[in-house]
Amino acid sequence: MEIYNSLVDIVGQERISNSQEELFIYSRDAGAQKPRSVDYVVMPKTVEEVQKILLLANREGIPVTPMGGGFTLSALVVPNKGGIVLDMKRMDNIIEVNERNRYALIEAGVSQAALKSYLEENHPHLQHSTPEAPPTVTVVGNALIQGHGHISPRYGVNSEMINGMEVVLPTGEVCKTGSCSVSPSWFTRGPLPDLSGLFIGWYGTTGVVTKLSLRLFPKPRFREVLAFSTDDVDIIPDAISGVTQFDLLEDFFLIMQEKPDWMNHVFFVLILSGHFEEEFDLKKRIYRDFFEEFKGGKIEFVEDLHPALRKRFLDVPPLASLAADFRKGGGFEYTGAILPIESIPEAWRGGLEIAHKYGMICSYVHQILAGPSVMFGFNYSFNRADEEDAEIW
Ligand SMILES: Cc1cc2nc3c(=O)[nH]c(=O)nc-3n(C[C@H](O)[C@H](O)[C@H](O)COP(=O)(O)OP(=O)(O)OC[C@H]3O[C@@H](n4cnc5c(N)ncnc54)[C@H](O)[C@@H]3O)c2cc1C
Repeated sequence: MEIYNSLVDIVGQERISNSQEELFIYSRDAGAQKPRSVDYVVMPKTVEEVQKILLLANREGIPVTPMGGGFTLSALVVPNKGGIVLDMKRMDNIIEVNERNRYALIEAGVSQAALKSYLEENHPHLQHSTPEAPPTVTVVGNALIQGHGHISPRYGVNSEMINGMEVVLPTGEVCKTGSCSVSPSWFTRGPLPDLSGLFIGWYGTTGVVTKLSLRLFPKPRFREVLAFSTDDVDIIPDAISGVTQFDLLEDFFLIMQEKPDWMNHVFFVLILSGHFEEEFDLKKRIYRDFFEEFKGGKIEFVEDLHPALRKRFLDVPPLASLAADFRKGGGFEYTGAILPIESIPEAWRGGLEIAHKYGMICSYVHQILAGPSVMFGFNYSFNRADEEDAEIW
């Protein structure tokens, strides 16, 4: 109760809980990992509150796990050794959108949906790199895990979109990275020594990010999806290498699933965009010509892409994994790795072998990243209410 009361002194009664009903939801995530226990959930609103919480936790030796949307599906925000879950969702201010230097300065709890709708309403010609994740996930959580969004094939993974950060260290000190550390402006990470790497990819273990400046990009006037298909898995690496040679794509997916039958092929899904009609038409022509000539026409243009699929791919974020075969029960997991493109055929066959061994239907949605490399993932759905089904996963 002493710890609880100290936390109440910091954030007030309304933004802390140790009641079992509320901790239940923080002790698990939507993935397949088993629940783990949590002692307190605290929702700070200010940097000062974060500082005080970390100082208290440091003094008392209590583990702290920062949480954004909690949707990585690998229980990253479910503590290993109990303690405090620091739910950042109340720090949800969009502090500044700088049109000219194209960045947004946001607090850690700003969701993807909040930033997207704010930009659509107030800065309709600007966009940020949006992951295909649920809309409640945070921009900061995604950038910190080096996630990827709908323009990542063109501009890089989302940690590369960071211009600077304000971070509270476990000692309670506030640290800044990027231009904001030496000036009031948050427009760049360089040319200072770049300390952002001390916090990117560390899953909140080195500090709690309270503010982040994110790069924004001009929104193109024209967008279209082109799909091509083949049954020859071994030609995938050469095809990707060729397609990415032109450096003209907004987004690029490789998709396959065994059911329904018409989906049981390898699909190359290219999202093209342009600011000018002529530029846009030229891009479409370049890719049609490329595939027509590639290895004697082994990859075919999909003339009749279903309008529903076309819409899903053109949505921002694209809803590519919704093409997956969802079963009842709400269990959904994906697994994979960032791989060099030459590993795709082997990874593809290996994934199918495992799925068949356990009687699962899996689908693959792979995003081709700058490099090129591939974010290679298998999606498996399972019935969460069926223990045997969940165990197989
Ligand atoms: C259907 C589906 C599709 C998805 N598609 C994509 C996709 O296309 N691209 C993609 O990248 N991801 C995708 N994801 C994965 C995930 O949902 C996203 O990456 C999401 O943006 C993660 O953000 P979050 O707010 O949920 O992070 P969280 O899970 O809350 O946090 C992620 C990690 O960052 C740490 N952290 C969070 N906030 C802070 C902070 N303020 N300071 C320090 N550390 C912090 C946490 O402790 C944790 O270790 C998908 C998930 C699902 C369910």
